[in-house]
Amino acid sequence: MDQNRYRPGRAHTSRTYPVIPPIYQTTTFELDDRAYADIQGEGGLHETWYTRFNNPTVDAAAAEVARLHGGGDEAGHSLIFASGMAAIATTLVSLVGAGDTVVAARQTYGDTDDLLRRDLPALGATVVRVDAHDTDAWRTMIAEHQPKVVYGETLSNPQLRLVDLPAVAEAAHAVGARFVVDNTFATPYCTRPLELGADVVVESATKFLAGHSDVVAGAATTRDPALLEEVQRRLITFGGCADPHAAFLLWRGMRTFRVRLAESCRTAAALADLLAKEPAIRDVIYPGRNDHPDAAVVRRVMPDAAGAMLTVVLHGGDERAGAVLRRLRVGVEATSLGGVETLVSTPFNSSHFNMTDEERLAAGIQPGTLRLSIGLEGEEALLADLRQAFDTP
Ligand SMILES: *Cc1c(COP(=O)(O)O)cnc(C)c1O
Repeated sequence: MDQNRYRPGRAHTSRTYPVIPPIYQTTTFELDDRAYADIQGEGGLHETWYTRFNNPTVDAAAAEVARLHGGGDEAGHSLIFASGMAAIATTLVSLVGAGDTVVAARQTYGDTDDLLRRDLPALGATVVRVDAHDTDAWRTMIAEHQPKVVYGETLSNPQLRLVDLPAVAEAAHAVGARFVVDNTFATPYCTRPLELGADVVVESATKFLAGHSDVVAGAATTRDPALLEEVQRRLITFGGCADPHAAFLLWRGMRTFRVRLAESCRTAAALADLLAKEPAIRDVIYPGRNDHPDAAVVRRVMPDAAGAMLTVVLHGGDERAGAVLRRLRVGVEATSLGGVETLVSTPFNSSHFNMTDEERLAAGIQPGTLRLSIGLEGEEALLADLRQAFDTP
């Protein structure tokens, strides 16, 4: 598993091996007696016979995600989905049913929030929310509600608050709950939640994993084969499978995951310190800084690199932040994150547009907030770009 090598899947018949996985752009595979036996014995979960069940290119991407999380064997303990939301929804609905309770972070990705607010309750589940960074509240609510599932995001958007993964995992396991973590913002470069007690990691592979803003995909990773099978059965019945070409782009993007993340995290840390000295800026929020409110948790959860996401609060409110955003020449005014280009957005008109100013403030999102997903341009180019945007009247 440590080998940084592609190993062809079952459908490969040649004596030589391709270095790069072929794109098996096929829906179906010619069957033989062994394949029929597997289909009849195990429901076809492990056989390559139809692309919604298995596909060698998708398997290659799954093995690579599992490897980044330090778990799994040659077969991989990841499943690849059509999107991050397909991974999250399929995983949660696999684990939660009518009468079950979920204890979830109050701060989650917007569409996950909809899922927790509307769709899981519609299925008969109860969802209780706690502040992501409030470890005592996690402990109290988990003990009180005896949930089936505990759900949080390693790093919240855009405040970059941390869930204390080992502490919440311990509280979850004490009541027999499964701990599901969305690790999209932190990435397995900065933290591998399975090593800190999480049972399942879900990710929008659209972001840093694929890394080139050119593919929508998702992943769920676990070390528990029974859990993997539970989720895979729903992947098959709900149908949120990845297309082989998207899986190829994801695999291709992950070839440079470590170097991209090393550079982007280094740049984010350097830029955070540089921006803290800029008069236009009221506040810099970066988990690697000593003034971050969860600095002690950061040292436990992401000790080596504090991520490539950086949030700043500008003097002058949201209007000023919007004006700065439009003047950027290097940073790109776009939502999403994790590309090689720095992507910059203002929560008030994008990720958090459906909240009132008061609701955003209550959630800790200050007027003037600018969210940056740091790419590969380097801190000097990004600082110069931000400065010219601050200076233009
Ligand atoms: C983007 C994102 C998602 C959803 O992923 P898609 O690939 O867009 O479906 C979920 N969680 C977080 C934290 C995200 O940033």
